[in-house]
Amino acid sequence: MRINVTRSSLPDFEEYCREIRDLWDTHWLTNNGEKLLALQARLQDWLQSPVALLTNGHLALEALLETLEPGGEIVTTPFTFASTTHAIVRKGFTPVFGDIRPDDYTLDPDGLEALITPRTRAIVPVHVYGRLCDDRAIDRVAKRHGLPVFYDAAHAFGVTREGVSAALLGDAAMFSFHATKVFHTIEGGAVATRDPALLQKLELARNYGITGPEDVVCVGGNAKMNEFQAAMGLCNLRRLPHDIACRRRVHERYMELLAGVKGLSIPSPQPGVQSNYAYFPVVFDQGRAVRDRVCAALARKEVYARKYFYPLVTDFACYRERFDSSLTPVARRVSDGVLTLPIYPELEEADVRLISGVLREELER
Ligand SMILES: *Cc1c(COP(=O)(O)O)cnc(C)c1O
Repeated sequence: MRINVTRSSLPDFEEYCREIRDLWDTHWLTNNGEKLLALQARLQDWLQSPVALLTNGHLALEALLETLEPGGEIVTTPFTFASTTHAIVRKGFTPVFGDIRPDDYTLDPDGLEALITPRTRAIVPVHVYGRLCDDRAIDRVAKRHGLPVFYDAAHAFGVTREGVSAALLGDAAMFSFHATKVFHTIEGGAVATRDPALLQKLELARNYGITGPEDVVCVGGNAKMNEFQAAMGLCNLRRLPHDIACRRRVHERYMELLAGVKGLSIPSPQPGVQSNYAYFPVVFDQGRAVRDRVCAALARKEVYARKYFYPLVTDFACYRERFDSSLTPVARRVSDGVLTLPIYPELEEADVRLISGVLREELER
């Protein structure tokens, strides 16, 4: 049977039916209904922060960027999903790309200062694969220049450092609840922030700037989460601790089975960080040719690993004329060598063995 890089979790069918049953009584399907308010309260506990819930992670990021003074530059990373850069560009900002750290693939705070100009409006780093950015170092640079830090935390739901939620890092954090993420609402997203003024702006941005039946105070869009999405979230949140524990077991099996394989780098755990085991990346030291050969060998066994994040955003057709990926050599090297192996709660031990066996065989040939 086909094994993909991930498999969307689904609650028990009857459980979801019970969860949505009330909607047939109330006929209240969106606009801050009961399910949304219940999910918002649960998420505030999980994330240790107030949250606004939106249609998807991308619109959450766009809404967050809309709160900045328009125009100017945003310092960010090219080692991410297209959404991060697209949100910056679609909101009229110019992305300025910094390189990543070779050990955890997050935005390198060391090169950051040199990228800041009088036109810089914010820093948008990305937590990747369930690993966290060096928020303290990034914060120091941001504070020196009076810049807000908005994290793309799409990969970091449920991740903590010394018990502190990823949602509390920086001025705000965007989460994605897309079907392929560790926790999902089919499509969905959130912004977590402890700044009440910012939260208020996001609430307005997601609902046309409407403050009441007779007034609209700003030019907002529509990015609300509906009741069916919220109901899926309520169900999925119940099994999330179990799901993360299962992912952890898969992660540990890979670590055992891939230990000592030559030519393979696997990022080590970050001290104090409780991961969500969202992805299992491996980086082939010899780069693209070997990575692609292994990826093809897996595909012959019906195992579909993915090259997240390859190519770099700066190498996409829509950006490659404007940006130069050779300016971020670490990101380019990691991107050329990376493969994310299948990981999801129900992935069987036998499959982890099969996948690890293919890697070992191909690299020891
Ligand atoms: C999934 C993802 C997004 C976009 O989230 P959606 O909910 O799919 O819109 C943004 N950034 C990163 C890093 C992601 O993985």
